[in-house]
Amino acid sequence: MNIDFLSDDKPHDECGVVGVYAPGREVARLAFFGLYSLQHRGQESAGIATSDGRIAHIHKGMGLVAQVFNEDNLRPLKGHLAIGQNRYSTTGSSHLRNAQPFLIETIFGPLGVAHNGNLTNTLELRKKLLERGVGLSSSSDSEVITQMLAAPANVYANPEENGLEGDRWAARIRSFMEVAEGAYSLAILTRHAIYAVRDPLGLRPLCLGQLDSGGYIVASESCALHTIGARYVRDVEPGEILRLNGSGLTSFVGKPSPKRALCIFEYVYFARPDSHFEGKVVHQVRQQLGRELAREAPVEADIVVGVPDSATPHAIGYSLESDIPYSEGLTKNRYIGRTFIQPDDQLRKVGVSLKYNPLTSNLQGKRVILIDDSIVRGNTAGPLIQLIRDGGATEVHVRVAAPPVRHPCFMGVDMATYKQLIAHKMDIEGIRQRIGADSLAYLSLEGLDKAVAEAIGKRSGHCNACFSGQYPINIPEWLFEEDRDKVIFEDMWG
Ligand code: SF4
Repeated sequence: MNIDFLSDDKPHDECGVVGVYAPGREVARLAFFGLYSLQHRGQESAGIATSDGRIAHIHKGMGLVAQVFNEDNLRPLKGHLAIGQNRYSTTGSSHLRNAQPFLIETIFGPLGVAHNGNLTNTLELRKKLLERGVGLSSSSDSEVITQMLAAPANVYANPEENGLEGDRWAARIRSFMEVAEGAYSLAILTRHAIYAVRDPLGLRPLCLGQLDSGGYIVASESCALHTIGARYVRDVEPGEILRLNGSGLTSFVGKPSPKRALCIFEYVYFARPDSHFEGKVVHQVRQQLGRELAREAPVEADIVVGVPDSATPHAIGYSLESDIPYSEGLTKNRYIGRTFIQPDDQLRKVGVSLKYNPLTSNLQGKRVILIDDSIVRGNTAGPLIQLIRDGGATEVHVRVAAPPVRHPCFMGVDMATYKQLIAHKMDIEGIRQRIGADSLAYLSLEGLDKAVAEAIGKRSGHCNACFSGQYPINIPEWLFEEDRDKVIFEDMWG
């Protein structure tokens, strides 16, 4: 049981992936610690698959990385190649059969796939596979990817074609990219190589690092590289296929990248603050969002408080720009994220108090600016404001370092449905009244774009569809149904 009703007002992270090529090293251990540092991207399941050039090994299970793995099940994962994944389900429900990586045997040996993202044409691709007689054992779009690579529609996909050096896996990946739509950052395991692949828009992040001892790692975020002592080399480019094997690094064009659309929510909330994208540390970008928010939405107050931990950098930025002191106003139980113990009815009433406590000594008699990074459903802001009032604050002004979330995400983030999004149903004054703030303001869309561009030092294409409704890819009509939740195929599985 996940008591995430306490953090239900955040979009749920997508997934974290790693791929490791490291002869002479314990690759499963490297993959484990890589996944460990990407835990924030997915907490439902975790898995690692390895290859020793002959056979492949896998272990996966439900729960956190540290719950799924121990010395006994890590030891048999031998080899010099590994992929791993932390999962939060966006397509397919939360069952072991959907846990990743997917590992199958193919005509060219083992094939493992770890996927972060969401294909928007999964239904069509599934149907085509099933029509060709390819069976599927789960409701995950990642299994669809795996089977499309194992049994491409064009089985004669020509590896000699332009620039693929006769690499039959690269040819299969390219033929998958020709028909796939949506978001995918992939770590793919074969008998002799790891492939890292990013969709042509670069919706989900993926970066490359080098190990001092020789070998390479790819990971969703650079924080995973530092954890295992690797040096950041560069981001995997949108539309690129990168091969890591005994020949070193080889880059192939998978599909040309017409424009870029990295998820801007990575900067707002998802990524760990010590990771960097597009050359900038996320913490600094978040401070810039806070600064812009202070310029756009000033208010007289005594202290600036961030909702811990995710809004702390935004609050520091607001404080620096406004010259209003930053102060800790809430403490958070960092270990409450996931538990199998269900709170009873009395504890449910306590609500956010299970997770946050007010720091009364800092709040007493103060006019507080409460900074949050985002409000999605609007069900925790009200109790948090009440907690701060209970701590002695005389006024609570809420400032949100992102625009109102008015649209769902179909590219790998469980944002909520139209029906659940508070900013889809209400205007800002309505939300203010609902949450009981003395005032409420959000960062504008222009302010968000400007602040990110200022922080990273360039204008780069980003997806901001959950704020603007402007999706960077065609979204099938049926996905816009008001109460559409995750794209699931549960009727097939009961
Ligand atoms: S819709 Fe929002 S959460 Fe989804 S990819 Fe775009 S910016 Fe990210």
